[in-house]
Amino acid sequence: MSAPARPARPQRVLTVASTERLGPHLVRIVLTGDSLADFGAAEYTDAYVKFLFVDPGLGLEPPFDLAALRESLPGEQQPVTRTYTVRAVDREARLLTVDFVTHGDVGHAGPWAQQAKVGDVAVVMGPGGGYAPDPQAGWHLFAGDLSAVPAIAAALEALPASARGVALVEAELQEDVLDLAAPEGVEVRWLLNPDTSDVDHLARAIDALTWPDDVSEGAVQVFAHGERESIKAVRAVLKRREVPRGAISISGYWARGRTEDAFQAEKRTPIGKIED
Ligand SMILES: Cc1cc2nc3c(=O)[nH]c(=O)nc-3n(C[C@H](O)[C@H](O)[C@H](O)COP(=O)(O)OP(=O)(O)OC[C@H]3O[C@@H](n4cnc5c(N)ncnc54)[C@H](O)[C@@H]3O)c2cc1C
Repeated sequence: MSAPARPARPQRVLTVASTERLGPHLVRIVLTGDSLADFGAAEYTDAYVKFLFVDPGLGLEPPFDLAALRESLPGEQQPVTRTYTVRAVDREARLLTVDFVTHGDVGHAGPWAQQAKVGDVAVVMGPGGGYAPDPQAGWHLFAGDLSAVPAIAAALEALPASARGVALVEAELQEDVLDLAAPEGVEVRWLLNPDTSDVDHLARAIDALTWPDDVSEGAVQVFAHGERESIKAVRAVLKRREVPRGAISISGYWARGRTEDAFQAEKRTPIGKIED
């Protein structure tokens, strides 16, 4: 007996309302559409959606019959999904803000965002999510690269004014640096690292912080996401510092030299695992 087919995930068909270049590697796209009225995941600051890319050469109108396309299309024409954080959502005004890292001409989402213009159509599925800052935590650590800036920025904005901690954000260029709003007791520090082969840069900075004596769950809370190898190095530091797993939200958001499809598939193999 074959397994019952999974119900199709609803697709929201949106259009680009505005685009804004935030820096050489970051572009902000605001999308609009009536289907945003019931957009969920309000409790998470790391809420994310999946952008769906279907070969425009097929001449299809969204929403797409994904199951039929997956069944009928050859490998190179298969629909692909790309994961992006919800930087902000305004359900009443039907606006969804997403900040895309632009990383050249290879891929789907980055190149799409780089060239997006008002009126372009985007199809998204979701949202999902899993983290929100604990307002009671004594000390917060946020760490990541530009891909995690939307989630870190959303978390910083959600913190109570009394929150304490540090946000470390790695970027290649001074021009990538953004002004992130944070409570007075949370230091936002940008780490400029033009050497993309130096994957320990973020981890070294984390290790060099003045850590609180009490790193138990509830006393500290860590949010660390970004390039996979860099996040593996961060995980090793957190382990050595005996930060309990329950106090940590950690994962790779992408992996250098891999498409998201390859990156997701590798999660099932040793190279793709962030040590527990
Ligand atoms: C939960 C979650 C939330 C995320 N949120 C965001 C977000 O808000 N903003 C964001 O920009 N990204 C975010 N990402 C990362 C994003 O999904 C990946 O970067 C994705 O691979 C981009 O797809 P693409 O089609 O542009 O490139 P792909 O086709 O996946 O990859 C093509 C090539 O580009 C390289 N590449 C991919 N991403 C980057 C990058 N950031 N910098 C340099 N090279 C890269 C790949 O290694 C590969 O060589 C998130 C990922 C997850 C899992």
